[in-house]
Amino acid sequence: MLEVRDPADVRSVVAEVPAMTAAEVTAAYDRARAAFDGWRRANPLDRAAVLGRAADLIRARAEDGAVILVRENGKTLAEARVEVTKTADFLDYYASFARQPWGELLSDARPGTSTSVRVEPVGVVLAICPWNDPLITPARKLGPALIAGNAVLLKAASQTPSIAIWAARLLSEAGLPADVLQVVTGRNGEISGALLASPDAVTFTGSNEVGALLRRTLAARNVRLQAELGGKNVSVVLADADLDLAASVVVNAAFAQAGQRCTATSRLIVDVSAAAAFESRLRDAIAGIVVGPGLDPATTMGPLAYAAHRDGVLGHVERARREGGAVVAGGGRPAAGALAHGCYVEPTLVNVAPGQSLWRDEVFGPVLAVATADGFDQAVRLANDTVYGLSAAVFTTSLSAADEFINLAQAGQVAVKLPTAGWDVHHPFGGFRESGSAFKEQGAPGLRFYTRIKTAAVRFAW
Ligand code: NAP
Repeated sequence: MLEVRDPADVRSVVAEVPAMTAAEVTAAYDRARAAFDGWRRANPLDRAAVLGRAADLIRARAEDGAVILVRENGKTLAEARVEVTKTADFLDYYASFARQPWGELLSDARPGTSTSVRVEPVGVVLAICPWNDPLITPARKLGPALIAGNAVLLKAASQTPSIAIWAARLLSEAGLPADVLQVVTGRNGEISGALLASPDAVTFTGSNEVGALLRRTLAARNVRLQAELGGKNVSVVLADADLDLAASVVVNAAFAQAGQRCTATSRLIVDVSAAAAFESRLRDAIAGIVVGPGLDPATTMGPLAYAAHRDGVLGHVERARREGGAVVAGGGRPAAGALAHGCYVEPTLVNVAPGQSLWRDEVFGPVLAVATADGFDQAVRLANDTVYGLSAAVFTTSLSAADEFINLAQAGQVAVKLPTAGWDVHHPFGGFRESGSAFKEQGAPGLRFYTRIKTAAVRFAW
């Protein structure tokens, strides 16, 4: 079995799920292939009805799902409720595509002939998901995969398997035929080979290291790969920005979910003329963050998801100190009283020089690296000074500066006077550079990965 411990108190085991064997994974693929044959032929409107019913069930049992999320992942109940709601939205949104065109009719120069373009499912999809948004990440993959008629093996993160199992049960209760969706749980050393042996497509959200391994393994077999990887998202505060607005938005973007969002702001660039005034606003806003267990209604920032991750995040802060970074807020592990046994890290602000590790490396925790820039051009240069390209934001009152920033930012998502996080189900989503792959998630483009195109010419008359 795999054991899941409560991030708010690691002495407590909150779930145990099977550690599957490689043979069990292979058998799951066999069942998925058989199930795919029926599901791909189902009427798209019937497929949509299943997704719609599942969305209703998720909303009806939202509180159950939210509590599972908090207990496995550590996020606050308020954050978990949003995740559950958006999960239902994903299923409803992709259900609506059943009523959209799924192909085209083309003219053909040959007499009595008509050529059509048909959109087909790709087959059995392996969806590998991380622990940070362990319900919504599967949902943004399952919505398009299932409406298009694919079968799915969902590999849940070992830290958060129960919520994936919960969602799969509700889809089953909503009428999803057996084995169209199966949740896989297990240790990578045991099951990775079997997982990667026979999918028709792999959609992966997770680290760059595992993404690179998948790319190497799958490219040789020409298996399509969608990869949503790491980030080092930036917010830029220009000299003319509304500093009060910018401070409250940036603090939320950096510290919500304890910074464990792929789109969390983890670098901040402030125009040097506004730096002192902005830092004092940031410190005030950070002082208002209440760190504690996610189930406590007073908490505004929960623990990190597991102890080794907490230690890794604290290691990034220590390294920043050694490299000359100045920790101006937080930087430690709150361990008093009830927090002693949890995976907590204080919301942390570090002034750094661009080029230092904290400027470059993904931390995936509540740590914001701050640098200054002298004017717009330098700010943009620094914003793009990263191998990543997921999300970027700018704070300015100048329309032309905002538009120029959108043009120049090397990021798949760009926001003006808004957080780097918080994109809706119908907004195409995906990173540039080392943050992603050519296939977008969400929105209408999110369907492309899960479909292939067949062109068929038919001679109707001699
Ligand atoms: P991770 O270590 O890459 O794990 C992600 C998933 O891959 C987990 O289910 C993990 O299983 C599985 N996995 C690991 N090694 C595998 C292997 N050899 N074969 C098959 N599956 C394997 O990533 P993480 O640390 O959990 O997640 C954090 C990372 O995800 C960060 O870099 C973050 O930026 C990124 N992320 C990106 C986005 C985006 O949209 N761009 C969104 C969220 C997160 P186990 O749990 O069993 O190890």
